[in-house]
Amino acid sequence: MTTAEIAKMQKDYLMPTYAPELALVKGLGPRVWDAEGNEYLDFVSGIAVTNIGHCHPKMVKAVQDQVETLAHVSNLYYNEKQPQLAKELSECSGLPGAKCFFCNSGAEANEGLIKLARLWGSDQGKYEIITMRQSFHGRTLATLTATGQEKVQAGFGPLPEGFSYAHFNDLPSIEKAITPKTAAVLIEALQGEGGVIPADPEFLSDLRLLCDEKGILLLFDEVQCGMGRTGRWFGFQNYKVQPDAFSLAKGLGNGFPMGAIVAGATLADTFQVGHHATTFGGTPLACSAALSVIAVLKEEDLLAHTMMMGAYLVEGLCEIATRHKKWISEVRGLGLLLGLVLDVPALPLQKKLQEKGMLALATAGNVLRLLPPLNVSKEEIDQALLYLGESCEELHDEMAALSPNPCQC
Ligand SMILES: *Cc1c(COP(=O)(O)O)cnc(C)c1O
Repeated sequence: MTTAEIAKMQKDYLMPTYAPELALVKGLGPRVWDAEGNEYLDFVSGIAVTNIGHCHPKMVKAVQDQVETLAHVSNLYYNEKQPQLAKELSECSGLPGAKCFFCNSGAEANEGLIKLARLWGSDQGKYEIITMRQSFHGRTLATLTATGQEKVQAGFGPLPEGFSYAHFNDLPSIEKAITPKTAAVLIEALQGEGGVIPADPEFLSDLRLLCDEKGILLLFDEVQCGMGRTGRWFGFQNYKVQPDAFSLAKGLGNGFPMGAIVAGATLADTFQVGHHATTFGGTPLACSAALSVIAVLKEEDLLAHTMMMGAYLVEGLCEIATRHKKWISEVRGLGLLLGLVLDVPALPLQKKLQEKGMLALATAGNVLRLLPPLNVSKEEIDQALLYLGESCEELHDEMAALSPNPCQC
């Protein structure tokens, strides 16, 4: 099918919740191809999903073998892959005695975290969850309420009770939001959708102390920044803090839909039989996919590689930013979750890159988010920097004219 044929059929038969332009039909490593055979360097990775690249042979083999052996059993039965995966995640988390619950998406993992916090607090009458403005936690009713953006919530009221909001990197605003009914603070170590904004180290350490002092849980949403994306297994490991529990999804299955809750000792046994369940959570097929992802991250030493490639990409981005000071203000992020922060809308840059054969993502209006696969090579980063450099050059006059930045340098 051509892109036009696919687009026509989508218009007729799918709810218009998305507005795609490209039809992607094939992927390999850090590259994808559209229906007309055009090649793209993929610095979106399905939004931090395909962290080990498209069609990694090890994952293909693991999924093929498992689907031929046993794809699904109910959680009424043991399946040997599920505890194996839980053990891996528990060990990677560094949280003593950590235990897991498996589900199917990021929103579902966060929904589970919210239930976990409420059940934990129910004896003491605590149920309120404090989340951050500009956060993103998902699209179910509870998680869109947790998401501190009005545009995500508009039209879906009445929203569930028990959520309040504070400002990211602003401890006093969290202190102010705490009440005797507060059960937890839910936060991203690095806000992804919010514009690639890392937490300040001091803010997170002070938040941990505050939560301990007030008897409040600290929960991390690691859906986007987890699974090696920041150069550590989980985003919070860039900081000297440990959460009471955290959620995972996106990169966990590298494209196989999967989510998880990982809970430290305080919450590891809060859910008992009958408290929480899902049909597809932790099937042998899903767990085999995730086990292969973890094996590849370890065998190919991809956490260290992510740090190195991240530093290399930042260096190149900073050079570009310096050349276009008039409309590029900052490079920020951790590992390979990076943002080129503009003084102007980022969409024209996204489009220009796409014309040249590279995918990147405009986020939060003025941020170009770059999410290459974690096994990206130096040569592929050089290619991306070339595309970026050329695009910025070609857009310079147009962007500089839009920029409110008076700097003439
Ligand atoms: C994508 C994302 C979610 C939602 O995950 P879904 O799988 O789309 O439900 C939640 N939190 C963060 C931080 C995300 O980036």
